[in-house]
Amino acid sequence: MSLRVESVCLGPFETNAYLLTTEGSSECVLVDAPKGAAGNLLEEIRSRGLRLTHLLLTHGHWDHMCDAAAVKEATGCQVLAHRDDQVLIEEIERVRARYQAMIPWLTDRDFRGCKVDRWLADGERVELLGRAFETRHVPGHCPGSLLFWSPADRLALVGDAIFQGSVGRTDLPNGDWPTLLASIRARVYTLPDDTHLLPGHGDPTTVGAEKAGNPYAKPAG
Ligand SMILES: [Zn+2]
Ligand SMILES: [Zn+2]
Repeated sequence: MSLRVESVCLGPFETNAYLLTTEGSSECVLVDAPKGAAGNLLEEIRSRGLRLTHLLLTHGHWDHMCDAAAVKEATGCQVLAHRDDQVLIEEIERVRARYQAMIPWLTDRDFRGCKVDRWLADGERVELLGRAFETRHVPGHCPGSLLFWSPADRLALVGDAIFQGSVGRTDLPNGDWPTLLASIRARVYTLPDDTHLLPGHGDPTTVGAEKAGNPYAKPAG
């Protein structure tokens, strides 16, 4: 049962959401819920007769969680995230002003907290779609940043920790560059070189390509 990954770019920050499916199963999993995810994407899921069982949040930034509550309401899916982003995900209203200053046209509907069903810790394994995903905590861009690694499929969904030829911003509140660099070296660059990295923005890459060419995050030593 090979994993099928479809990426959908949504919202004002062009955030990638990933829909995971496997042949022969009607279950599906969504990684991140940007603004708009509760619209056409859910329609698509329904029209294909799929049932969304889980929403994985790579981190609590608004552009990745905006539609989480709406997706959960519409599907009854379980929401999984890291506890260090509890306020960002469950109490988004408390940090609304920061986002509203950047995007003044957002409305109340865009700032709905989403109750998380399960908090994941570093190293925890989650059974989804008949395979084990390993959770790795990769703080630095955001305190609760997670990556989800499927060794069987040689891929990892990495959120905004690392991008093709770039890294996540660390100038946002609670961002920290030394922490992010340490995360990338210890938790991304220790994955097999042929692991596909599916980031929260932009194109996919591989561990090997970034170790060889990422100008910001060079391997240790
Ligand atoms: Zn982010
Ligand atoms: Zn983002």
